[in-house]
Amino acid sequence: MERASIETITPDFADRFKKSVVIEDVVLEDGYLVFSGGRLWDTCSRSAVLHHKFNLLREYCKSSYIAWLFALGRGVHNAMQEMFSDDAIGDWLCDICNEFQPELFIRKPFYCAFCGSNRLVYREHRFLNTLLGISGHPDQILEFDNRYVIEYKSISKKGFNELEGRPLENAEKQIQTYIDLTDLKEGYIVYINKGDLELLSRSMKWFKVVRDEVEILRQHNIIALYRAGIDSFPDNVPSRTCVNPKSKRAKNCSARDLCWSESWK
Ligand code: SF4
Ligand SMILES: [Zn+2]
Repeated sequence: MERASIETITPDFADRFKKSVVIEDVVLEDGYLVFSGGRLWDTCSRSAVLHHKFNLLREYCKSSYIAWLFALGRGVHNAMQEMFSDDAIGDWLCDICNEFQPELFIRKPFYCAFCGSNRLVYREHRFLNTLLGISGHPDQILEFDNRYVIEYKSISKKGFNELEGRPLENAEKQIQTYIDLTDLKEGYIVYINKGDLELLSRSMKWFKVVRDEVEILRQHNIIALYRAGIDSFPDNVPSRTCVNPKSKRAKNCSARDLCWSESWK
């Protein structure tokens, strides 16, 4: 009898995984600007305003490559939140009856107030700054000797090995936003090596970050620019940060055509 042969299927993954531009931007929710994403402070203010006004947001899952990265990032992030849930303060969702616990921003309850199960899952608490009109969900608030804002970042093995002494600049800026929103003094940026997902201490690097008032003030000024541009559109749209529409940054910007045509003026 002839044995069935096993054929190896090798589709061209390069095509399927083609990179597309990741647009992480500031979104508007109940009138609040929601601050999230590691590239937050890289955003051109003009682009942020045009994205809001023309609803150009959330185009980041264009390719399977981006979808893959996001899924991996989310998985790592959820695993970390679970790992530290006994020291965490936040909102708690019951995995059995799917109800949020009535009291928000607390340490993990022993049992669900509705069904009595002990399967409570950490959910990020939403912080608001009503004066600035911004909101954000830090990854976790942990309470050891003190309270800390925590930002989890999954990173490639190469990037992980190259991290020395301090975290990446974008992450530092982002955690300052959360330190400000939560009114805390310190936080940690935790890098997790995607090339070593055993989640042991060797697969993580923790960097302590202390509150930086100068950076926080700088951010408040940028937020004021966003708000002015959005609230009084099209009168106060921030000026261009690209020299011309063919620059690398402009080519990757989904507001480029609107930016340079100024058809909305
Ligand atoms: S093309 Fe450049 S200047 Fe214009 S919105 Fe985009 S990033 Fe900003
Ligand atoms: Zn329950």
